Amino acid sequence: MSFYSLGAAEEVTGSKHVLEVNGKSYLIDCGAFQGSRAEADRKNREFGIDPDKIEACILTHGHYDHCGLLPLLVKRGFRGNIYATSATRDIANLIMMDSAHIQARDADYLKRQAAKKGDDFDWQPLFDERDVIQTTNQIVGISYHRPMMIGDGVELEFYDAGHILGSSIAMITVTQNGKKTRFAFSGDLGRKNKPIIRNPEMIPAPDYLVLESTYGNRRHEPAADAMAQLAEITKRMIKKGEKGKILIPAFAVERTQELVYYFHTLVDDGIIEEVPIYVDSPMATNATTIFQVHPECYDESVHEAFIKHHKNPFGFNKLHFTSSVDESKALNDRKGPLIIISADGMCEAGRIQHHLIHNIEDPNTTILIVGYMAQNTLGRRLYKREPKVKIHGQWFDVKAEIAEINAFSAHADYEEMGAWLDEVDTSNLKNIFMVHGEPKVQSAFKDYLVKKGYPNVDIVQYGKTYKAD
Ligand SMILES: [Zn+2]
Repeated sequence: MSFYSLGAAEEVTGSKHVLEVNGKSYLIDCGAFQGSRAEADRKNREFGIDPDKIEACILTHGHYDHCGLLPLLVKRGFRGNIYATSATRDIANLIMMDSAHIQARDADYLKRQAAKKGDDFDWQPLFDERDVIQTTNQIVGISYHRPMMIGDGVELEFYDAGHILGSSIAMITVTQNGKKTRFAFSGDLGRKNKPIIRNPEMIPAPDYLVLESTYGNRRHEPAADAMAQLAEITKRMIKKGEKGKILIPAFAVERTQELVYYFHTLVDDGIIEEVPIYVDSPMATNATTIFQVHPECYDESVHEAFIKHHKNPFGFNKLHFTSSVDESKALNDRKGPLIIISADGMCEAGRIQHHLIHNIEDPNTTILIVGYMAQNTLGRRLYKREPKVKIHGQWFDVKAEIAEINAFSAHADYEEMGAWLDEVDTSNLKNIFMVHGEPKVQSAFKDYLVKKGYPNVDIVQYGKTYKAD
């Protein structure tokens, strides 16, 4: 048995981990690398593994940096099973399809640009819609706690990772000569007290743990604080009457549904007045439908408040999902108080840009930042309170109030990961393989774990093979 990584080794995106058992390869996640266009393109085309050599794939959750290259793997000939929870299958399908659309649009745009300049053009998307359909067809849904044999002496069982809907920790148990060896792949580890989904679950004693380290040097605000902060900002907006507006750039999957759920709960509990809320993102609307059909992923509070009383946690009187562009444009003329939740989460594309153009120079508008803003994005410039920003080639003075809530993170911070690990039975643990983090962050997290009493931590290097027994 051995283990190696072909992505998310000393970096955060592009998760691809391989467990080899008796000459057969099991690929855990097949995510896309995200970064500058040229680097991403190069890294995502160079696979590092022959699709014919892969016995089966295991997908921990539906984020793009975990599922984004599955269609390319399938396009290149992989015909085996891809194991995932049913909710992950649905979310991954949405995310992969969105990527196929964006790539087709990019190819079209770049082709036209090249034609204008008289340049040669040969860039091809990594995959198209048909590849995504074929990929989704290869996904075999396995619920949490339903162990399944996926190869000779190799059993897979999913535990809840508490990260996004359907997310899982993949526990792979290898039986050889009557001896069992357990490999736990954390995927992305979530946090306690997130809305809708359950807390990260305990797992049986692992021999080896492949652990993410995205926030290995950071502390988040407690997840439970998010709702109180949201209430406070909303109350302030309501006081402004018809001038009051809140714009929330949010990722279409998970963050939008969390916001909707919180607003619903705040209104139900009489903490805020009911105000119109518009979810203005076709992808968020589709994602919300996926949330509605997976009650098996909900935590107790959702069951209690909503399932028992037959309410829909993702729909209420004053919540509107706008689909057409005309409906979206009509929001410009609507008087407040109102809230608009719109994608893209980092303000780089999509309808949020139009809402920003119309409202950014109005001091009565609040732009509420609830997620990570990568460098060189419009979202990051707003987050840094730059006085002027460019949108669609035009400069705007930022007169709107910029507010932020940092309690929404879907990843555990280092203390939360440490606390989770302390609860796991680590009496058999031989090694922690650290993946999915930046080098500086990983060395800080390694020091922290060693101090806590976990001496055997390897920061996984790209392509390096680690033996297991
Ligand atoms: Zn993730």
